[in-house]
Amino acid sequence: MSLLELSAVTAFYGPSQALFGVDLAVEEGEVVALMGRNGMGKTTTIRAICRLLPIREGSIRLDGRDIRALPSFRVARMGVGLVPEGRRCFPNLTVEENLLAAARPGEWDMPRVMRLFPALAPRRGQMAASLSGGEQQMLAIGRALMTNPRLLLLDEATEGLAPVVRQEIWAAISRLKSETGLGIVVVDKSLRELRTVADRGVILARGRTVWEGGFDRLDEDLTSRYLGV
Ligand code: ATP
Repeated sequence: MSLLELSAVTAFYGPSQALFGVDLAVEEGEVVALMGRNGMGKTTTIRAICRLLPIREGSIRLDGRDIRALPSFRVARMGVGLVPEGRRCFPNLTVEENLLAAARPGEWDMPRVMRLFPALAPRRGQMAASLSGGEQQMLAIGRALMTNPRLLLLDEATEGLAPVVRQEIWAAISRLKSETGLGIVVVDKSLRELRTVADRGVILARGRTVWEGGFDRLDEDLTSRYLGV
């Protein structure tokens, strides 16, 4: 049984259909890259998993349990941690307060988040709004980890960050992969980094899963057809 399994998921924004048949499976301890050009349905898929958007058809299973009818807070409690696009930390809370607001019992606590992201330690008492983009992304990942998830969803993991900070985020994801049993879904534009960090890739085109496999099988034809590179 997979940790997460989406099967033939369809979803709408009002009358407009955004997902037409998404299949996606993530095993414990596995990093899966969710790829596709802009507007192909990556964020919508992540929102559907978190139950921030209702699904019309298909199923979403977490540990075999169908979660399509559950409210988002229940899905979060079942172990789904979200790092949303644009980070969305509480700007007027300190780093420490942001982390504590998310805390749930488990192995992840403030010292462990600080060990993963040492840059956050001297910023503990600072408002999140005063952090750099990279520090805010570290905080957003730290906050998701404080919920002690089993599945981590990272939407646009390194978007808009300076190259050196990007490397820190990728290094942290690699550490999560080697040191924890977390399942991770990562959306990012950097194919080069995804190839290094992820175990497998899934490509969406027009709201549908069109390809799934190991990166050794992702050839030039597929990348130019579906990823525009
Ligand atoms: P990007 O990398 O640009 O974020 P994406 O692959 O994450 O792309 P989505 O944001 O999931 O794509 O968008 C999928 C489709 O749903 C697009 O056609 C988009 O225009 C549409 N869409 C996204 N958000 C909304 C919304 N709030 N209301 C209506 N349509 C939306």
